[in-house]
Amino acid sequence: MAATLSLAADEALDETAYRLDFRSDTITQPTQAMREAMRNAEVGDDVFGEDPSINALEARAAQIFGKEAALFVTSGTQGNLLALLSQTHPGEEVIAEASAHIANSEVGGAARLGGLTLRPVVGYAGGGAGAGKISPEQVVSTIRPANVHFARTALLAIENTHNNAGGTILTVDEMDRLAEAAHSHGLKVHLDGARIFNAAVGLGVEPMRLAQHADTLTFCLSKGLSAPVGSVLLGPEAVIDEARRYRKMIGGGMRQAGVLAAAGLIAVQTGVARLADDHRRARRLAEGLARVPGISIDLATVQSNIVRFDVAGMGLTSGGLADGLQEHGVRISGGPGTGVRMVAHRHIDEASVDLALEAMVSIAAKSRNS
Ligand SMILES: *Cc1c(COP(=O)(O)O)cnc(C)c1O
Repeated sequence: MAATLSLAADEALDETAYRLDFRSDTITQPTQAMREAMRNAEVGDDVFGEDPSINALEARAAQIFGKEAALFVTSGTQGNLLALLSQTHPGEEVIAEASAHIANSEVGGAARLGGLTLRPVVGYAGGGAGAGKISPEQVVSTIRPANVHFARTALLAIENTHNNAGGTILTVDEMDRLAEAAHSHGLKVHLDGARIFNAAVGLGVEPMRLAQHADTLTFCLSKGLSAPVGSVLLGPEAVIDEARRYRKMIGGGMRQAGVLAAAGLIAVQTGVARLADDHRRARRLAEGLARVPGISIDLATVQSNIVRFDVAGMGLTSGGLADGLQEHGVRISGGPGTGVRMVAHRHIDEASVDLALEAMVSIAAKSRNS
């Protein structure tokens, strides 16, 4: 009886507490099916390779992406770091788009722990569908020629969808051409596919095809897919064996972590199909925002579940807007700048979007009158 009551309470939490929380898709609560699977998960010592739930998740992920091997990791940051450690040597260089997660939001791990220099390349700044995209020509011209002065360029990191560019999606052709540019110069290619399922759903292509020419990739279980913890790193068996050693080195050798993988398995089985809803809601939000006085938004960048816009025209910072929205129960992340990100996820429905838009309109009216 008590268990039934607490499950009902969880369900209520799912439905209400996060339905106006647009800060990130990382805030999604595990589903009831995940909680059940976690409770019943068969587990073993994963450092011995004996956790059946982890082994099942890794096998399934490898199958989805057509890669030889997979490794369950604690986070996308850990997966990205392990991809670098396993495919480069200290002193080498890694090319990444200037605003990429790996170059900005991973605590400088590539430099601190990998001894790597990141070579940032500024992606297309003209907005629209091309926002944040680097070209194969840019990659080729950034690769260092053999010269006694230069560090060796070892790897190209590609982010798809591109979070800081508004969730823009690199197409299959764009992915193929970037990988070809890198491979033809002897570089490895790592795909930071934290939201690769959003990209695949947005394009209507198989995730396997999108990641086909990436040597390694990571994807997050804990964002739009709603699992509580974890990411998966995929690649050739030899690279994943190496990554497994480095994961142990940095303290990521987990034991009965099958309780987490069990939720991750549900995430890949059931979480992908509903991402299209998130994209539709992000679109609805973006189109509504475009009609709010003082908000400037480039609708062509809204291709997945992320909506980026600017509130300078409202005379507000994102922090000021966040404070105003808080009074309406709507949560966004705020700071000193005027750029705002809102993210659609499993707890955001159409009514949430409409409520947030009403709040925006009322804040806009107030800021015009003051
Ligand atoms: C979220 C995210 C990651 C990984 O983040 P963690 O919080 O470490 O799981 C990596 N790359 C991108 C583009 C992301 O959005």
